[in-house]
Amino acid sequence: MADRNDTLWFLDFDGVLCDSLPECYAVSRTAYWTGFLGLPEPPDAPSERAEFARMRPLIRRGADYLLLHLAIREGIRLDSQEGFDALAAREADRDALFHELFYRARSDLLRRDPERWFALNPLYPGVAEILLRNRSNRAVLILSTKEAPFILEILRHHGVEWDADRVLCSGKEPKLGYIDRILAERGASRAVFVDDQVDHFRGTPERPVRRVLAEWGYVRPEWIESGTVETVSLANLPALLPA
Ligand SMILES: [Mg+2]
Repeated sequence: MADRNDTLWFLDFDGVLCDSLPECYAVSRTAYWTGFLGLPEPPDAPSERAEFARMRPLIRRGADYLLLHLAIREGIRLDSQEGFDALAAREADRDALFHELFYRARSDLLRRDPERWFALNPLYPGVAEILLRNRSNRAVLILSTKEAPFILEILRHHGVEWDADRVLCSGKEPKLGYIDRILAERGASRAVFVDDQVDHFRGTPERPVRRVLAEWGYVRPEWIESGTVETVSLANLPALLPA
């Protein structure tokens, strides 16, 4: 193994640390129906939830969740990243609006009903303990497209006091490029990067980045079955980390 002293670890949040699908479903549904369409939210059905969950691996950031509701409403069945990207390109003019509506709905729910909001954002089993063991190691970072204050709220709720400057939000910037830049800034020479979206693994960073797919996250079966990407189980996650 490479010298761990010049390594940084980047852990994705949604689908790696936090099982946020219930919250993202509820918040984006409100944002889409009430915020975007200006209509009352219809009662949801198990089939709608199932379709949302099926398409969930394709999203990269908050605004994308509204596209899943749009697809469901329009009867578009998204089966691939290319299909999702085509829809995102069609709706590109609405990206900033969808982002704003999504975060407004999230902030509204957190303010109005924090107990429900936290209940919709559980950590995966054992994750709080893993983070606590690595809490004092500043080489271990959280890298998400989610805005950092929400991540810190969720961690705090679960008893994890995590340094605010160790939650990084890549926004719309490709994650590998973002990681490369952080490595350069901090004088580190390599990274271990755990994520559940293979699209974030695409790119050619200058410094070596070990990319590991979180099997327990929002992954499509073919990503694991392809055998083209290193995978890790939740049970084996600690072995990838310093502590
Ligand atoms: Mg993720």
